[in-house]
Formats: sequence, structure tokens, C-alpha cells
Amino acid sequence: MNQSAQDTPLLEVNGLKKYYPMNKGWFSKTSGYVRAVDGVSFKVMPGETLGIVGESGCGKSTMGQMITQLLEPTEGEILFQGQNLADLTEVEIRKVRRDLQFVFQDPYSSLNPRMKAFDIVAEPLQVHGIAKGKELKTEVFRLLETVGLGAHLANRHPHEFSGGQRQRIGIARALAMKPKLIICDEPVSALDVSIQAQILNLLKELQQQFQLTYIFIAHGLPSVKHISDRIAVMYLGKIVELADRDELFSRPHHPYTEALLEAVPVPDPRLRKERTPLTGEIPNPANPPSGCSFHTRCPYVQDICRQKAPSLEEHTPGHVSACHFPLHKQATN
Ligand code: ADP
Ligand code: MG
Repeated sequence: MNQSAQDTPLLEVNGLKKYYPMNKGWFSKTSGYVRAVDGVSFKVMPGETLGIVGESGCGKSTMGQMITQLLEPTEGEILFQGQNLADLTEVEIRKVRRDLQFVFQDPYSSLNPRMKAFDIVAEPLQVHGIAKGKELKTEVFRLLETVGLGAHLANRHPHEFSGGQRQRIGIARALAMKPKLIICDEPVSALDVSIQAQILNLLKELQQQFQLTYIFIAHGLPSVKHISDRIAVMYLGKIVELADRDELFSRPHHPYTEALLEAVPVPDPRLRKERTPLTGEIPNPANPPSGCSFHTRCPYVQDICRQKAPSLEEHTPGHVSACHFPLHKQATN
């Protein structure tokens, strides 16, 4: 890879928004909007894994689906290898769709129950006219083997597999397109704890083998810790903090990140800091709080937090956060 290709982000999103209209009454008048994703910007460099973390409903899946072209953004731009997807022709977009793949949270509902494993993996290759006949057969068996499934399983239907095996089929289907970027949307959340590590290890091996770039979505920090290079924390449709993994874990700036870290087990109890656990309900994304959207749950809330939304700023190099009183500053005051 030449220098300029390495410096260009593989993916860049700017001001991405998805507002769902809410319709009320007989005449379906729009009574407001669910701000599922509310102005998100970030870059992903080739070969890296960006973890995205936040409680259920904060907009993670919606964002992933916009990037992989499964959902149309309300606003904002998506640049893939420096090209704005909005500027591409239909033919070019079809090519980009192959480069951007999605691995779903629940492999059971995302795999067609009436199709055999072989056909599930073969389908995208056929649809895109990539392989047929003997070549197709060889390729599908190779893909199944790559994800650790023997050829003897190819004729089974999704319900005949375990949860972990089903997720392997979902991964094989995504790999079939030889993608550059895979968005893994809580790929292990629905699996037994004992199986989770196996799937995470598989994803790591595949990343090495095929030079893949990942966006890895999870609702808790522990699940993204080992796989991520950098981590973005989302709250009510917005990124509130983004930093290198180790930096985020050791020096969180945002009180929300601090609260999420509360859920991370600390092996030595003597090292455990007194932290304020997260209390209160997640606000309604159709009617977000004034000012900082986290102020209703923030243990450090001040007047300004109720009035003015903090902007996402680089408080220390490579570490951005949106808080009027970032924690690292409080500690030194
Ligand atoms: P996450 O993946 O972080 O759990 P989602 O992206 O699934 O969050 O959802 C974000 C918000 O958008 C939630 O409040 C959800 O209820 C809402 N939402 C998602 N899909 C739709 C839809 N099709 N219509 C209306 N609201 C939606
Ligand atoms: Mg989700």
C-alpha cells in the first residue's frame, strides 16, 4: 500500500443524521422526529477497528445501516476511500456495497430459515455474478472452511446450527464479497459467553488474513476492549467521546464513559475507584433534554449543562469529548 492510501481514511462520515418521522392520528401528520442518529462524524483508517459503544437505543445500528447503504441518511455525507457515496453512479454504488458488509446481531433472524448454509453463502456470489457452477461450489466450501465450518454442514438449515455456528455462517456470507470494511453489529451479544471469545478470535484472525477494517458495535465497553484500536462512545444519537482504546479506559473524559466503565470488572478490588453508577432512564430520542443530552443523568451537572450543548472538542491529542467539565480537568483543579 502506498503512503497516500494509508493516510486516506477508508471511511469518513460527516454530520450523519437519521430522523424518523412520527405520525399521529388519522391524517398521519408528522408530529415530530425520533433523532436516532443526530450528527455523527468520525474517520476509520484502513486496517483498524473502531469500537462503537452505547446503551441500547442510542443509534448504533441505525448508523451502521446507513454506512452499509441499508438505510438512507436524513442528512450528512459518507465518504468511502475519499469518495462521497452521494456522488456515485448506480453501478459504482453497487461496487461499493460489496466493499461494505454487515454482520448482524442476531444471526437467527438475519439468515433465511428455509435456505441451506451453502445457499446462504452462495447467494451474494450469485446475485453479484461473481461465481457459478463448479467455481461457486469451490468458493462456498472455501468460505465455510475459513470460518471453521466443515463441508459436511453445508446442507443444513439455520435451525440445525448452534448460535455460534449461525454467526459463522453470517460472517462467511459477509466475507464472500471480499469486503474492505465490515460493520459487526453486536455480533456476539446473543451468544453464550463461552462462545463469544471464539467468534471474537475468528474475527481477529480474519482481519489479519484479509486486511479487513472493522466497525465493531457493542452496548458495553468490555465487549469492545480487546478488539478495538479506538473507541467511540455514543449517547442519544451523538458521539460524546472518542479516543484510543487504552486512553479511553485509563483516562475517560466524559461522565457517561466513566459510568460505562463502572460496569467493567476490575480484577483487583484495591484498584477499584469509587465511581458513581449510572442512574435514571435514557431520555426519549424524540424529545432529547435541553443543553447537554446527558445532563439528566450526570452526577456533575451544572447550570450551563442544562442550557448549552457542549461541542465535541479535542481536549487532549487524539482524544475528543463533548463535556463542559471533562473529568481530566476536574481531577487537576
Ligand atoms: P441501537 O442499535 O443503539 O440499540 P437503534 O439504532 O436500533 O439503536 O435505534 C435508535 C433509535 O431509533 C431508537 O430510539 C429506536 O427506537 C429508533 N428507531 C430505530 N428504527 C426505527 C424506525 N424504523 N422507526 C422509528 N424509530 C426507529
Ligand atoms: Mg442495535
